[in-house]
Amino acid sequence: MPTTTPVVHAIPVPKDNYAWLMETSPGNAILFDPGDFGPVAEVLHQRRLKPTHILITHHHHDHIGGVTALADHFGAKIVGHALDAKRLPPLDLAVKDGDTIPLEGWHCDVWATPGHTVGHVVYRIGDALFTGDTLFSLGCGRLFEGTAEMMWASMQKLRGLPGVQRIFPAHEYTLLNLDFVLKLEPNNPCLPSFRQWVLEQTDKGEPTLPTTMEQELRCNPFLRADRSDFVQNIGMSGKTGVDVFAHVRTLRNQH
Ligand code: ZN
Ligand code: FE
Repeated sequence: MPTTTPVVHAIPVPKDNYAWLMETSPGNAILFDPGDFGPVAEVLHQRRLKPTHILITHHHHDHIGGVTALADHFGAKIVGHALDAKRLPPLDLAVKDGDTIPLEGWHCDVWATPGHTVGHVVYRIGDALFTGDTLFSLGCGRLFEGTAEMMWASMQKLRGLPGVQRIFPAHEYTLLNLDFVLKLEPNNPCLPSFRQWVLEQTDKGEPTLPTTMEQELRCNPFLRADRSDFVQNIGMSGKTGVDVFAHVRTLRNQH
């Protein structure tokens, strides 16, 4: 029985994406959202890992640009949301909300998280959650297709996960988001130490990811839109969670 803490490697894909590479069995791995062929194939060769499956969170080009070429080259199966099948590379396995799929001895839970796009899904394998453009460190995806109601519901679904859940978003946006969050909620006591760590990682050229659910519940405004301390901090007492969420999302767009 494999451990529930998979080994996951970051593969930076220009300009600020990550394709995540999760080791499954000796020599084998799963890829998430490979937006480009070159940098991803190079890491696979260096690490002597062969992808058996490629999991897609949503249809945007920066997440699927390398999928077909990598699948052809390595003989990997392509997995994505049935709802978005027409906008994704040809799927070998079409999944839907609530599915649990077996992957090389691991179990992968599929959750629909509409908001950024209507067909967005996230994948949970053990303590690793691959969130694509739904949840970032200190942020969430822009509402390109869905409504604030949809995305707020997706946030509430994700925040029920354990605090130790590691979160692997598809973009390195932490520093940009930090700048926004510090202006939004300057008196949040958890931000200074986190900022210090983010700056250290950035100086070293290291990822600021994964983050954890515990960390995000302390600092991510989009998960805290109905929490009294946060709502008070930003002067929106008495407003509903979805109103606060929508307001903060608008502020972030303007930032
Ligand atoms: Zn996207
Ligand atoms: Fe993206």
